[in-house]
Amino acid sequence: MNKLKFSVLTLFPDMFAPLKESIIGRASEKGLVEVDCVNIRDFSADKRRRVDDYPYGAGGGMVMQPQPIYDAYKSVAGDDRPLVIYLSPQGRVLSQKLARDLSREEHIILLCGHYEGVDERVLEEIVDMEVSIGDYVLTGGELPAMVLIDCVSRMREGVLDSRETAETESHYDGLLEYPQYTRPPEFMGRAVPQVLLGGNHKEIEKWRREQSLLRTRKKRPDLLKKAVLSDEDKKILEKL
Ligand code: SAM
Repeated sequence: MNKLKFSVLTLFPDMFAPLKESIIGRASEKGLVEVDCVNIRDFSADKRRRVDDYPYGAGGGMVMQPQPIYDAYKSVAGDDRPLVIYLSPQGRVLSQKLARDLSREEHIILLCGHYEGVDERVLEEIVDMEVSIGDYVLTGGELPAMVLIDCVSRMREGVLDSRETAETESHYDGLLEYPQYTRPPEFMGRAVPQVLLGGNHKEIEKWRREQSLLRTRKKRPDLLKKAVLSDEDKKILEKL
């Protein structure tokens, strides 16, 4: 499979250092994922390298100018047309389903805004999709871009090894994951559920599915309403 490349247009490329760690760092080393940061400031035509200016119509804050962003975009895209995502609190909220769809792309350009945001005209010119990581406002698009890169990369084949499956994790099939335990078998008087110690894989699978349904109903009943449930799942829920 080809590598999944993210080109990040940002004013703060140093903020992306955490992606060198852990699973995404390992995926980069294996050549499965590439994260390439492009400093928008390098494309400023201003001799003091300014990239923002006052908003037309007055109001507080500064707005990122269109030209440095467009030139940064062109330096990456050339004559190709990679998918361009603007991280924005006004966008479609990121979900596991969207992450899975995006993981099928080959090249994604991520535009990180800052200050009051970005001049609307460059968004109209280059952006295919706006993505939000939740209904709150952050200082810049860098943290949202890292969140997107992490959760999209995890969906890419080969990024998680065989012991780290995404398929049983929360939100993959609309439910929350079952509880996890490791050694010791007893901690502060609390024992690991007996079924997990018995080695009967069928029983363990059944228990895990029950727990998954149970905790989704308890913690996120809104998800349970939307989840696709089998007849067996429905029976389990009635019983529980
Ligand atoms: N004035 C903008 C508004 O009210 O919609 C918010 C600007 S915000 C302070 C600066 C930048 O942070 C945005 O351009 C965007 O790139 C990023 N950002 C802030 N919150 C975000 C969120 N929830 N999801 C994705 N990006 C976000």
